[in-house]
Amino acid sequence: MKTSIQIGKIMGIPIRLHITFLLILPVFAWIFATNEKEFGGFNDVQPELLRYSLGMAASVLLFTCVLLHELGHSYVAKKHGSEINNITLFLFGGVSSMEDIPKDPKTEIKMAVAGPAVSLLIGSVLLIIYEIIKQELLFSDSSYLRLVWLIGYINIVLGIFNLLPAFPMDGGRVLRAWLAGRMPYIKATQAAAGIGKMFAIFMGVFGFFYSIWLTLIAFFIYIGASEEEKSTEVSVILEGMKVKDLISKDVVTVSPNTTVEELVDMMFKYKHMGYPVVDGSNVKGIVTFTDVQKIPKEDRKNVLVSQIMTKDLITAREDDEAIMILKLLTKNNIGRILVINDEKMIGIVSRTDVLRAVQLLE
Ligand SMILES: [Zn+2]
Repeated sequence: MKTSIQIGKIMGIPIRLHITFLLILPVFAWIFATNEKEFGGFNDVQPELLRYSLGMAASVLLFTCVLLHELGHSYVAKKHGSEINNITLFLFGGVSSMEDIPKDPKTEIKMAVAGPAVSLLIGSVLLIIYEIIKQELLFSDSSYLRLVWLIGYINIVLGIFNLLPAFPMDGGRVLRAWLAGRMPYIKATQAAAGIGKMFAIFMGVFGFFYSIWLTLIAFFIYIGASEEEKSTEVSVILEGMKVKDLISKDVVTVSPNTTVEELVDMMFKYKHMGYPVVDGSNVKGIVTFTDVQKIPKEDRKNVLVSQIMTKDLITAREDDEAIMILKLLTKNNIGRILVINDEKMIGIVSRTDVLRAVQLLE
């Protein structure tokens, strides 16, 4: 399922809106429109149309500022040669998807700080504009001016919040990079993730008594810290390994003329979820349990494997980096990759093969 839509490109980076973002936008607009004046809301504004328009404007501006924050990261990343795949706006803000996170601590610090720096800059400028207009023009009760204050204030909060030293917040990256100058990268990640988790637990308990929103955010921080730790561990462990170190060579294959019913029997016998489809020595495709599920039980004896297999294959070569396999598996959300040499299949690498290697080496 397509879960996000692309709205354009900035600095050559595709900007995408996630489905959760499209749902949250009107919710934020409603919150801003109905919140009290003291909290930067517009509930006293008349007529109603203006009230909700201001709410919507605040909501759109808020996410524009989140996007600018992400572009701050991306700008520095690009300058240091990292490739940015896309920026996606989610329910809880933005995420820049990068090819590799730079392992050079100095670059990582610059990149991590760039986002909050953009937020703090926008925030300061807007708050200064607000103060000037308010004092010089004695124009303090305008709802438009309140919008300037609100967006300025939110940017300051966004900047400071992101500098908290907890993964996956930007401050967590700064902390990791700082530690990485003093200990091995993997140890630095574990330490930074540990602090992030502790922080999340503290914030979660605090939020439980004061604001359930904090608990919810804490939950995401905890998950983010754990994921960052795991993915760094895996990429450090796999560093220097090649596809040929992970390959399984005794592969069970099926012929294109096998019926789906026979394939199901094979799946029970060999307990693999996917099989390369081979005709002679040529690879024709790959067939998995997901493909089988689409065919009703009663039709399975009349349908051939060649009719349900996936034909555009994602393949690798023996000398490719092992980490690349993991990226391909994750990016395409698949379970196995065929290893091909001169158009002949020499084996497969499955997600299980990668995880087993990681566990052995850990
Ligand atoms: Zn950031």
